[in-house]
Amino acid sequence: MKLTALLSVSDKTGVLELARELHALGVRLLSTGGTAKLLAEAGLPVTEVADHTGFPEMLDGRVKTLHPKIHGGLLARREVPQHMAALAAHGIDTIDLLVVNLYPFEATVAKPGCTLEEAIENIDIGGPAMVRSAAKNWQDVAVLTDASQYAGVVAELKAGGISKATRFALAVAAFNRISNYDAAISDHLSALQADGSKAEFPAQSNGRFVKLQDLRYGENPHQAAAFYRDLQPAPGSLVTAVQLQGKELSYNNIADADAAWECVKSFDGAACVIVKHANPCGVALGADAAEAYAKAFKTDPTSAFGGIIAFNVPVDAAAAQLVAKQFVEVLIAPAFSDEARAVFAAKANTRVLQIALPTDRAPANTHDIKRVGSGLLIQSADNRVLDASELKVVSKLKPTPAQIADLLFAWKVAKFVKSNAIVFCGGGMTLGVGAGQMSRLDSARIASIKAGHAGLSLQGSAVASDAFFPFRDGLDVLADAGATCVIQPGGSMRDDEVIQAADERGIAMVLTGVRHFRH
Ligand code: 5GP
Repeated sequence: MKLTALLSVSDKTGVLELARELHALGVRLLSTGGTAKLLAEAGLPVTEVADHTGFPEMLDGRVKTLHPKIHGGLLARREVPQHMAALAAHGIDTIDLLVVNLYPFEATVAKPGCTLEEAIENIDIGGPAMVRSAAKNWQDVAVLTDASQYAGVVAELKAGGISKATRFALAVAAFNRISNYDAAISDHLSALQADGSKAEFPAQSNGRFVKLQDLRYGENPHQAAAFYRDLQPAPGSLVTAVQLQGKELSYNNIADADAAWECVKSFDGAACVIVKHANPCGVALGADAAEAYAKAFKTDPTSAFGGIIAFNVPVDAAAAQLVAKQFVEVLIAPAFSDEARAVFAAKANTRVLQIALPTDRAPANTHDIKRVGSGLLIQSADNRVLDASELKVVSKLKPTPAQIADLLFAWKVAKFVKSNAIVFCGGGMTLGVGAGQMSRLDSARIASIKAGHAGLSLQGSAVASDAFFPFRDGLDVLADAGATCVIQPGGSMRDDEVIQAADERGIAMVLTGVRHFRH
């Protein structure tokens, strides 16, 4: 039986050679306007789809193949008698081979200055419809959507016919192509407004992510990894960073850089955050970048070695010279002076990232995603910012304005420390950070031990606890260490006992009513 092929391609690469082979194999050729012209000019016998259907191409090509004679021919199951009877009743021929590639939407929108109208005109309608019909009916129809498939199919035809496995693989490839095509359309249009201009703050995600780069490896060398971003990143987020110099970022660098940058962004005055293993090991405010760094470094000089350092203000020569004294993996700031750049140019391995700070109006990161066995946990990001007016003083002692300032600073830091988090602060810097312990008591102990190791006094310090104290023992550890004021969410069954302990130990205590678990 003579086979029929329908060829309708925007990218005509290889289609003439394919058509010649098909013709030589006795396959009847059907084709749309442009493709038919090419084949006819090469002397191949070809029937135009318009002649085949008896219906002209219309609406500037928007309607060419959207006709029952085409879709009936593609969709009819050959072994279902009613299907074949219906084709016969309506004078519809079967189409056995479909060769389609789509209007070049991706290439069109990649061109600078592409208008909304151009993008819209390059949305192929009939092509994907035929591809879907043929792929759905893969048992009876072979669908070719890429020139790289032509040679293999010709070889199989010459050898007697296209195998079932090949037809199925072609159908899967076809649906993948359609899926990617639709994704490209959705991605492009999602960023636009009706007048064709770019939306200032388009939706961050339409459920897909864009790959930024493959990484050398993941958290460990035996793990493969890649870095993806949201379709439309939140302004000022890590994925908008420009790497000015240094080695390629690693998986752990990126995770730590994000922790440092998100934390330092949360401060208004000049601040510096040093992160190790996703936890801040030194955070401080200063009159300038250099002072903020010097204070942050003091919290835990041992851990700061090989750290990720982030600033929320431009790095000048003074700050650069100080930072350059330590081994730093990644340095992040909204800007670097030429002198600062020159200081790090001498340290070629140091990764230097520049990230523009978001404006006040810019939307924050919307979602957090965590992978669990064959599932995802998705939550809105922890963007809760505490206002001083929300604080509730529950102790007999009232905190002084200076204490309130230290408590709010400590609270901001605690939000970025893995739970259970206990953060001692004073004078706009961290004095001891207890992170990631399974008990709040141990976090408190560790924070005070670390302050001791760093030679820092905790007398008169302010402490933040990311969640409530289940018992008074944690508070007693803080008081023993020298703390005089504490900020915590409250909400424990034993709040009364904890508040009573604060009063006994001469501690001013404020409750936030907000918890900042971070796991
Ligand atoms: P040609 O160059 O042969 O005139 O057009 C080929 C292109 O038209 C292919 O990219 C094919 O996907 C597309 N196409 C085929 N039928 C239709 C249709 O009915 N509507 C639209 N919009 N595109 C079609």
